[in-house]
Amino acid sequence: MCVVFSRSCPYASSLPLTNPPNHLSPSSTTALGAKLVVGMPFKDIATSDSVYLPKVPPASDAAARKVIKRLQDVNVGVIAPYEELKANPFPNSVAVVSLDAIASSGLPPLPEGALRYAVKVTGLEPEASYELFKTLNKRVVVIILEVPAGTSRVHASRRTFQLLANINSDLPVVHSLAFSAVKDKDDLILRSGAEGGGLLVDGLGDGIMISAVGSELDLLRTTSFNLLQGSRMRSTKTDFVSCPSCGRTLFDLQEVTEQIKQKTGHLPGVAIAIMGCIVNGPGEMADADFGYVGGAPGKVDLYVGKEVVKRAVPNEKACDALVDLIKEYGRWIEKPVDAPVSV
Ligand code: SF4
Repeated sequence: MCVVFSRSCPYASSLPLTNPPNHLSPSSTTALGAKLVVGMPFKDIATSDSVYLPKVPPASDAAARKVIKRLQDVNVGVIAPYEELKANPFPNSVAVVSLDAIASSGLPPLPEGALRYAVKVTGLEPEASYELFKTLNKRVVVIILEVPAGTSRVHASRRTFQLLANINSDLPVVHSLAFSAVKDKDDLILRSGAEGGGLLVDGLGDGIMISAVGSELDLLRTTSFNLLQGSRMRSTKTDFVSCPSCGRTLFDLQEVTEQIKQKTGHLPGVAIAIMGCIVNGPGEMADADFGYVGGAPGKVDLYVGKEVVKRAVPNEKACDALVDLIKEYGRWIEKPVDAPVSV
């Protein structure tokens, strides 16, 4: 599982690993968004901040442990249930304990090699249990909010954030969304957005951790980052705004949007509007940095902010002209080249 946070920090965001740990392989590294340079992973803007291991590979599974160690070497955090780390200690890991367990038995000693704790809450614990965070602050790095099935996530989550606010807690909170099965990619995106998006948009939460039976790790990671991007919490790619198109549209909006995405989709923090006509397009570009607007049949006007800077660019040249404009305004970075997987 991978965990992603609103800022790049091992415990500020998260997303769950779907594969059992004994399936961890070099390809898991790239599925978590790490790039490979001469066979070694490195972390970039869209790499998971942490991995959550429901099961920790035993010492006999040296290959899986090596993959995890290499992720740690590039500052990807490792989070696992307390009992798992007791049975199979892993250096520099974070042990997950439940708030209920701490409330009834106190904080257990850290498993060998573990650095700190993550505390799992459901949002249903007695109010007094949250008072414990006042004394746990230094030893806990993150709270994992996992609302049980059958309970309203919105209500339980709001209650949790209110109780944490009451004690002035500044611990990051990660929403853990677990789906037993999803039909397809769209189903995962819709359900994740419905469950976690509204809370993140309201500023409730610092990260996301999604697990879904049968879904690829890479899909879970990209869905998590997309949720953060859509919530305006963390930008890892270009923001695109486009009109829905109508009878006034002056070019093939879908095809052109796809072309522009292919060429410019790797620019975190840059917003591009693609609008079908100048009648309403410029007024609906929101706060996009650059605009690509149908100006006349076969011609496109290019905008920087709300100002038109190039008029009547022929359709066939407009996409490249947009790229040139982004370069001219210093917002361009080269697309990273993926290396073959070989950890
Ligand atoms: S921007 Fe123009 S083309 Fe696009 S939906 Fe609005 S009126 Fe139609």
